[in-house]
Amino acid sequence: MIFRFILLCLVINFAICISQNPILIIVSYDAFKYDFFNTKDIPHMKSLRKLGSYSDYLINVFPTKTFPNHHSIATGLYPEVHGVIGNSYFDTSTNKEVHISYDMFHYDDSVVPIWRKNEDSGGNRHSGAMMWPGGCYPYQAKNITYCKDYDHQYDWFKRVDMVISWLKDPKQPANLVMVYFEEPDTDAHIYGITSNVVDGLIKKLDNISQYLEQQLEVNHLKEKVHVVHLSDHGMVDVKPTNFVNVTQHLTPNTYNYAGSSPLLEFHPKKGFENEVYQKLKNASIKDGRFTVYKKDEYPERWHYKKNRRSPPILVMANVGYGLDDLIHYVTEGAAKYNLKVTNQSTFGVHGYDYTEKEMHPFFMVRGPRIKINHKVSPFNTVDLFNLFCEILEIAPTKNNGTVANIANMFLARSNGKYSLTTILTITAGGIVIALILISCAAVLTLMMIKRQQSITTTAALNKRFPQTFHGSIEAQHLLEPEDA
Ligand SMILES: [Zn+2]
Repeated sequence: MIFRFILLCLVINFAICISQNPILIIVSYDAFKYDFFNTKDIPHMKSLRKLGSYSDYLINVFPTKTFPNHHSIATGLYPEVHGVIGNSYFDTSTNKEVHISYDMFHYDDSVVPIWRKNEDSGGNRHSGAMMWPGGCYPYQAKNITYCKDYDHQYDWFKRVDMVISWLKDPKQPANLVMVYFEEPDTDAHIYGITSNVVDGLIKKLDNISQYLEQQLEVNHLKEKVHVVHLSDHGMVDVKPTNFVNVTQHLTPNTYNYAGSSPLLEFHPKKGFENEVYQKLKNASIKDGRFTVYKKDEYPERWHYKKNRRSPPILVMANVGYGLDDLIHYVTEGAAKYNLKVTNQSTFGVHGYDYTEKEMHPFFMVRGPRIKINHKVSPFNTVDLFNLFCEILEIAPTKNNGTVANIANMFLARSNGKYSLTTILTITAGGIVIALILISCAAVLTLMMIKRQQSITTTAALNKRFPQTFHGSIEAQHLLEPEDA
């Protein structure tokens, strides 16, 4: 009986406590370079990669900065479409630099991130954002069900625990969760991507990826859930001797600028447009360590220029070089982190052209519908939105991705809509419920037969011994010879 009860609980737990929609977890490790799989000690992530499909790297979007790439992952749109053109940008209407904020992520109300799209697709779908950049703002004037704002002090293991609790919520189980880890980016900016500090962080992230899998397993979620692990960009180390002061070539108060190495966005003040451009251009030809672009010179393939936030002039340092902001940053960083800066110190930088291999992020996915130990060709960050929609079984909104680039990761459908795992789960549940119903029916039938026998016996005895017996148990012995 106890065994039957446990089975019933398991069936009920499956039916009520997790979403009956496809479930997807997307984990981003900021600045986790594609080649860490060859250069770092990450045994768990290497094992995970074999459990699903993966590419050697992703072709991310320009600029290879955190917020533009995270929003392209979430929307399938290029920065010139979703409007997050940098980690900061200069707003000409207010003459202020805009950092991460509601405004940054709301260039256009037609931009619908995957977490909003999931909930809008109906069927009791719920989304969660664990510190994902831009994930806690309302979109289309609606908040998603679960959200934890960025807090770098919040323990990484607790982040995973909270994600699991969202998936298991009995009333509103999440079926899409976006998870963000700020490392190795944060410390790599300070100590360099090749530093021992970063090696330690990468090991810790490897352990976190294992912890997530373990928690999915002990909560009976592993076979049901799809998990994507990825990053937004890579990084290179830059030494102080490679910091280039570009503003020294300009006349003060003739321009504003925003952004950070290796990209500075210049906005000349009215009447100084040509002067600022020509001075920067001449300096770049003479110096050779940075390039200057006018807006109409931005390559089309950047998908960066057709946006009112894109600057009229962009200065980009060559790979391995930084600009003015790093000169200031090193002074501040040295004081803040008690660093002794020498010419051999290293500072991590990213944001260069996505054609630079050092800027490439990694990608892998596993789950019930995904091919195992399957390597695919590198594809675009903007293709990921279609991958997420396919896993979630929702119709994608118009985006810049290509479905064909992600289609090869999926197993052939075993029977139309449902995977083999789903069919087995439903079948096993159905068998257990059927056994319980049959047992109940058998018990009821036996009780009815016994009751009928009792009535018949009493009636027969009353007929033979009307004054003596009224249903007494001994009456059966008296009855037996006549019945035999
Ligand atoms: Zn980043």
